[in-house]
Amino acid sequence: MPVAAPKKSSRRRAEPELIFGDLWEFDPAPESADPKLQDRYRPFIGGKFVAPKSGKYFASINPGTGKPLAEIALASPQDVDTAYAAASKAFPAWSKLPGAERGKYLYRLARILQDRAREFAVAETMDGGKPIKESRDFDVPMAAAHFFYHAGWADKLAYAFPGANPQPHGVVGQVIPWNFPLLMLAWKIAPALATGNTVVLKPAETTSITALKFAEVVQEAGLPPGVVNIVTGAGETGAAVVNHPKAAKVAFTGSTDVGKLIMRSTAGTGKKLTLELGGKAANIVFEDAPLDQAVEGIVNGIFFNQGHVCCAGSRLLVQESVADAVLKRLRNRVSVLRVGNPLDKNTDIGAINSKEQLDKISGLVKAGIAEGAEMFQPKCSLPRNGYYFRPTLFSGVEQSHRIAREEIFGPVLSILTFRTQSEAVEKANNTAYGLSAGVWTEKGSRILKMSTALKAGVVWANTYNKFDPTSPFGGYKESGFGREGGKQGLADYVKLT
Ligand code: NAP
Ligand code: MG
Repeated sequence: MPVAAPKKSSRRRAEPELIFGDLWEFDPAPESADPKLQDRYRPFIGGKFVAPKSGKYFASINPGTGKPLAEIALASPQDVDTAYAAASKAFPAWSKLPGAERGKYLYRLARILQDRAREFAVAETMDGGKPIKESRDFDVPMAAAHFFYHAGWADKLAYAFPGANPQPHGVVGQVIPWNFPLLMLAWKIAPALATGNTVVLKPAETTSITALKFAEVVQEAGLPPGVVNIVTGAGETGAAVVNHPKAAKVAFTGSTDVGKLIMRSTAGTGKKLTLELGGKAANIVFEDAPLDQAVEGIVNGIFFNQGHVCCAGSRLLVQESVADAVLKRLRNRVSVLRVGNPLDKNTDIGAINSKEQLDKISGLVKAGIAEGAEMFQPKCSLPRNGYYFRPTLFSGVEQSHRIAREEIFGPVLSILTFRTQSEAVEKANNTAYGLSAGVWTEKGSRILKMSTALKAGVVWANTYNKFDPTSPFGGYKESGFGREGGKQGLADYVKLT
């Protein structure tokens, strides 16, 4: 069912407030699949949902409406301790299970996720704000694909690491962010289980629901109790997961600031650590690129998931000779993006994940204006309730501007220009991050040269934001270390002798 037409677009406000508009109301539930939400979610420990020791709960908000969706337990360090005890108890039997048997459980998890895909997609969109077409066509199928892929490795570890006697680390503590809640869980849990580890995972505070629905899948698949434990809460719960003495390895995806804290707190403990952190990727368009195709790639690179993407192409570097042509096409394209109800299958840009994130984006956009960059936003109306932000283009951006240096993590593109290939490389690498990059050109030799010269874990050529479980993902510099996906990702979950 299509979204209801805007009811009114009366309240016009002066710039720059216009960019934070709240103008119309939508039909709250055009999507028909039932997300089967509970009123209250409790931590999943030792195969059961258990009451949190603190007795405290917090609300998970639907950012599309700004209203509470469910109550989530605040797990205390004592709950985290119980989870580690359950995971430690489960470890010996799970790690000794023949790989083919562990693989069967992973196949089961993958199939159940596929069976419940619509339900998971709606829950993910309601809890996190991303457009339903993305949850339905990307997040949930990719999460299932990660379990299928790693199920296949479970009985082939001796072939993956010949002669190296691959052994699991033990209990792995995992902490994930809110931008791809179920998918980040799959990136973490699938390789850990395939290699014989057991896990204690903490989802992000604003998006815990699909992790707890995944716990239902774990029960349904009959996994031995304690192999997967999910503890919910705030940053303190995350710190308890990371700092628990029984964690043999810590795997973290989130901000660079928290990553640095974790690196400090795990130093000298002997814990293995992998960090997947922030990014400020350059998406580089050369004058010989097919411009219409490049514009689609630029739009996908920055507006996918409202720009809440660690590898988002948030800095567009465009060759001076085609800069005006690209900017004109971009403005036209951005003007027809549909911003609004995340549950409407026609929506291109859904809700910003939280009020806090909306404030952060607004603050950086104001900084962009104050520092002298030229802002363009389409005049589209925004829903009255919930957290929304218009797709935003900044041209005339200089490398010193905050919007060129800091991760905005929102639908905001900073556009810079270059004249020569070496200038493009220099500008692209002029960042503390090094997660991803994009190159648009007709010349194959240039693609090869650029992908060597760019200090980024992933370089896409004539495409952007393409993912596959077989392909390793991870960063350089302040984007972290370690890889997820592919054989490289698997290697981070085993000890090799
Ligand atoms: P964040 O604030 O660092 O939070 C990430 C997770 O860490 C959340 O579960 C958070 O819990 C928890 N946490 C907070 N403080 C902690 C502490 N002191 N010790 C342990 N855990 C703690 O990041 P975010 O805002 O959720 O996510 C956005 C960031 O993630 C961006 O920088 C983005 O680039 C990055 N990211 C990177 C990748 C990648 O693969 N490289 C992928 C996705 C996202 P609460 O939610 O309760 O605060
Ligand atoms: Mg939420």
